[in-house]
Amino acid sequence: MPELPEVETTRRGLAPHLEGARVERVLLRRPDLRWPIPPEVGERLPGQRIDAVRRRAKYLLLDTAAGSALLHLGMSGSLRVLPVDTPAGLHDHVDIALAGRGGPMRVLRFTDPRRFGSLLWQPPGELHPLLAGLGPEPLGEAFDGDHLFERSRGRRAPVKAFLMDQRVVVGVGNIYVAEALFAAGVSPLRAAGRVSRERYGRIAEEIRRVLAGAIDRGGTTLRDFISPDGAPGYFEQELSAYGRGGEPCPRCGRPLRQATIAQRTTVWCAACQR
Ligand SMILES: [Zn+2]
Repeated sequence: MPELPEVETTRRGLAPHLEGARVERVLLRRPDLRWPIPPEVGERLPGQRIDAVRRRAKYLLLDTAAGSALLHLGMSGSLRVLPVDTPAGLHDHVDIALAGRGGPMRVLRFTDPRRFGSLLWQPPGELHPLLAGLGPEPLGEAFDGDHLFERSRGRRAPVKAFLMDQRVVVGVGNIYVAEALFAAGVSPLRAAGRVSRERYGRIAEEIRRVLAGAIDRGGTTLRDFISPDGAPGYFEQELSAYGRGGEPCPRCGRPLRQATIAQRTTVWCAACQR
């Protein structure tokens, strides 16, 4: 599943191709993805110039004066910029044809074999309901240990589930929460309300470090992710905990534990993480 670093990598790859380009036409090969594609996408987007490509949580927004197209890659979605005559395959559901800046016409193609992705519409000056109530960006200024400490008081849920709650902080997926808690030495099983302010400071730092590191390397291990230039976007990360249940802890050598928390596989060292 594309995580925040893949989505941010996609945004950075797309922005130079899209910003300033004009939408010539929108071709929807099916009426829905995870949700129906609203008529505004086909009606309002053509003729508009894309002013900016933004990211909020794992959503990408193509901003125009008429509103914003809101894209989510779901489990297996990818976006590529291709020559306009590139033949479409079975899973190429949406083409947004772009004319721009004197060059040949190109197409922004949304491919999604499993169709858990979405293409929605946000009118100008409004916030789409899916974006309302989201917590701060983990790489933004509003996110720090004090924020986590204050939001967690009285919470009995495991700190891992707390950190994956999108109302607390967005985009910290299973891989990154496992790595950040391992690096911070905090057990994923500990009740969120029983983690100190100081330790939340460390957790916040580690979340930022692991996400920024993955973005710098251009995304993580993803079979389905294709970067905008068509090259596979995955990068073999050096992960300390995630995916290593039963292997020796890289710090103390004892076997890493594995369990299911909040329906997700969790790996940690019972000796190093308290
Ligand atoms: Zn250990």
